[in-house]
This record gives sequence, C-alpha cells and structure tokens, in this order.
Amino acid sequence: MMNDLKLLDKTYIANTYARFPVEIVSGHGSILTDADGKDYIDMGSGIAVNAFGIGDPEWKKAVTAQLDLVQHTSNLYYTEPCVKLAKLLCEKTGMKKVFFGNSGAEANECAIKAARKWAAEHKGAEYSTILTLWNSFHGRTLTTLAATGQEHYHELFQPLTPGFAHVQPNDLADVKAQMKAHKCAAILIECIQGEGGVNVLDAEFVRGVAAAAEENDILLIVDEVQTGNGRTGKLYSYMNYGIEPDVVSTAKGLGGGLPLGATMLGEKVKDIFGFGDHGSTFGGNPVCCAGALNVLGRIDEKLLAEVREKSVYIFGELQGSPGIESVTGMGLMIGIKTSRPAAEVVRNCMAKHVLCLTAKDKVRLLPALNIPMELLKEAVSVIKEAAAKE
Ligand code: PLP
Repeated sequence: MMNDLKLLDKTYIANTYARFPVEIVSGHGSILTDADGKDYIDMGSGIAVNAFGIGDPEWKKAVTAQLDLVQHTSNLYYTEPCVKLAKLLCEKTGMKKVFFGNSGAEANECAIKAARKWAAEHKGAEYSTILTLWNSFHGRTLTTLAATGQEHYHELFQPLTPGFAHVQPNDLADVKAQMKAHKCAAILIECIQGEGGVNVLDAEFVRGVAAAAEENDILLIVDEVQTGNGRTGKLYSYMNYGIEPDVVSTAKGLGGGLPLGATMLGEKVKDIFGFGDHGSTFGGNPVCCAGALNVLGRIDEKLLAEVREKSVYIFGELQGSPGIESVTGMGLMIGIKTSRPAAEVVRNCMAKHVLCLTAKDKVRLLPALNIPMELLKEAVSVIKEAAAKE
C-alpha cells in the first residue's frame, strides 16, 4: 500500500515536498496513526496548525454544526461565523478590523497591500519600501518571497516584487540606518523566526524597532502566522514584548486544521481598504471561521499558563542534556540544536514513534497546545535519547 502510494505521489504530485516515509491515515488528540496501524506522538501538529490536536471533539462539533448549515457562500453575503470571529479577534487584541484569507502568505500579502496604500495616501507613493529581517520567512508567493530574507528562496524566481530591503535581526542601528536610507512604508517582523531556526528576537530590539517605526512614521507589521494563536504562551507573540503593532497577520493554528488566514488592521489602517481594493473567494469561509471561533474562544489564560508550564518542562529536560547544544523558543515553539545532524535525530525519533520537525539546523517542536503531559514526557524522553546517541 505504502509503496503504491509513494509511486502515485511521485508520478502525480509536483516535486516540491520531501516527505517522510509515513502514510498518516487517522489520529486523535496528539496521536497520529499510520497505514500499518502504528501510533506516533505528534510533536508537529501539522506545522503548528492543529491547535487542539486531531479531531478535538469540541472543535469538530463547531465545524460540523456549521457544515450542516452552509459550507460556503462567498463574500457577497453576510455570514455570522466570519463577523463573530473578526469581533473576537479585535476584542482579544485591540486591533480594529480584520481581512480574512486562506493562508499565511495571503495574510502577509494583505498586510503589505495595506501598508503600501497607507503610505501612498499618507506620505506619497514613493514611500513603498517594506523592511524585513534577514533569515525571516513570510511565505511563497512572489511578494512574500521578496519579503522573506533568505536569498536561496529567491534565486530561481526572479524578478520578485520590488520594494523590499532587509535588516539584521537584533541590530537596532542597522534598522535605524535602513529606515533613513529608504522611503519606507513599513517594517515587517516575526518576533520568533520560525522557519529561520526558532530564533527569539531580543526584547530590547523588538521594542526598539517599535519605537523607531513610530518615530519615523512607518507601520509595524508583526507576522504571527507561526507564533500566533497561543503558540508562545501568549495569544500573539508580540504580547510577550509589550508592543502594539499596526498590523498583525496570522494563519496556521487559527482555523485549528482548516485553512484560514487573518490580517488584523490597527487604528491607523483600519479603513485603508475601500470597496474592491482586496478580496478572496474563500476568505472568511463559514466552516473555517466556525472552527476558528472555537479555537480562539478556548485560548484563555488557563490554557496559556499550561502552554508556558509545558515549555518550562521541555526546557528543563533538554537544556544541558547529552548531545543537546542549545534550546531556543518560547511556549510550545521550540528549537533544539543537537550535536548530531537534526535530520538524523528526527529520523531516530520517528523510529521510536515520535514525529518531530526541523528548522534550519535544529530539531523543531510545535505540538498541539493541549498535548497531554504524559505524552509530552514520553516524547521528550525519546528526543533526549535520540540526541544523546553516539
Ligand atoms: N509566515 C510565517 C512566519 C510562516 O512560518 C509561514 C509558514 O511557515 C508563512 C508566513 C506562510 O504561511 P502559509 O504556508 O500558510 O502560506
């Protein structure tokens, strides 16, 4: 069965993914089951998507209840889940309005369009540059690739959208210099660079960027696609830094397993879009929004405290353990630099029925926010053992 599927995949699927040799057929909570009936502890949650794991009963109930009513309407009509979700996002963040798309890249595209239009109207069309950080990741569309500060992603797809310049993470002097060197609309940052290797930005730097953006009349956009929706132990990662962004993009965990992206617009840009300026056929789909309403409604202080406690446990177990050079991250977004190549450690973990991810040269963990403590303990002990192997 697995070999047939592999062959069909190779024949018919574009060659963009290096898949692990596992066919997942089902799961529950933080357990995934393969085609041979083998169970795995899921330490990746579909790359930070399945916020409450697989088939969470409450989430499923919310989704299927909406499915029983209507699955899609387009944005030509009002639907309650989408409007309620926008209201809840604004209430929980202090942002003012929301645009819904379907993915992280689209959420960033919308943020970039909002910033460009705001700057053109507010300062002049030449103020179009968006600063982003080296080593960042913002998506795969041609514009979000241009935003992504990793040149190896750019090489084969020139010309990319113009109007992006990159600055060094944790180098405030560079940020200030580039803000002067370019006519800027915005600076776009991830507070923790996820794909870049789970690098947590210094608090002083992030606060300095926010202050410099304000001083230079530049918008601050925070990409919360991976870090958002409870992942770092706060609802959004910027909340760990005491800053107030002008625009926040998110996706991944928001829908709890269904495709949904959101661009939250703060006071300065809440009315920047006019009729027809932007749109999405699927954006704000009622089934995805019903799922997201359930997810967002359940990310309360109690759950966030549990995320932080689990994080303390992981750091405590892994830091200084044989074969582990460093542990970075926040909440349940963890990067582990191992002495052995990360891919090898991940393969070893898989052989012991624990599924982990990588980010650059690190083993990356992004488990469900509600992963049970006993499964987490089991997974961490397997990771420790795999890292320690000679
Ligand atoms: N921004 C960040 C920080 C991400 O981590 C990702 C995906 O990994 C994206 C944007 C792109 O999201 P998507 O794959 O949903 O387009």
